[in-house]
Amino acid sequence: MSEQNNEKPNEIIPPSKALSPEKQEELCKKCDEYKAWMINYSPSVRFMFDQIKQSGGYVSPKKINCQICDDPKLGGFHPDLGIQLCANYISDKWVLNDTLSHELVHWYDNIRFKVDWMDLKHHACSEIRAASLSGECAILTEFKKNLGMMKMSKGHQTCVKRRAALSVVGHPKCKDMDHANEIVDEVFRSCFNDTRPFEMIYR
Ligand SMILES: [Zn+2]
Repeated sequence: MSEQNNEKPNEIIPPSKALSPEKQEELCKKCDEYKAWMINYSPSVRFMFDQIKQSGGYVSPKKINCQICDDPKLGGFHPDLGIQLCANYISDKWVLNDTLSHELVHWYDNIRFKVDWMDLKHHACSEIRAASLSGECAILTEFKKNLGMMKMSKGHQTCVKRRAALSVVGHPKCKDMDHANEIVDEVFRSCFNDTRPFEMIYR
């Protein structure tokens, strides 16, 4: 359930050791500010909070934690620990908005659908939904819109598949990228078409 970042780490020293304590504190403080802002004002974050509540869950802001991550990823979801936001990889508040929305889709799935996170297909399904519904593929969508409707939806699907596979490859049961792509393809159609709790994909 970890979201990969596009940047490859060049340093051998992990960020938690390479960054000074002051820098780490600064990054986490900024991340906390963005987080608080999104909880108050982001339509997609507020919508997901609400939907989780309506499904019998509760997202405590204390369970959304800004941290320094050593793995190059934007965030993660754990059914017991909650949401992790990687302060050192989240570049601005809109990236945080999409990352938080993404992790909240996992939270929602965990409550609504009794997900078995150790099952690769379950995991892939939630990753497809999270990538599609969070808006993280929306920039590409917006860009492709100018090229016509067909290409817009194709671009969105390609982006969702790619990002879902990048998350699935981090699963302990996933062998490699080919295996991840295979699993994503297998469940793509039904999971992509399941847009609950949204009525449609595009915000
Ligand atoms: Zn995810």
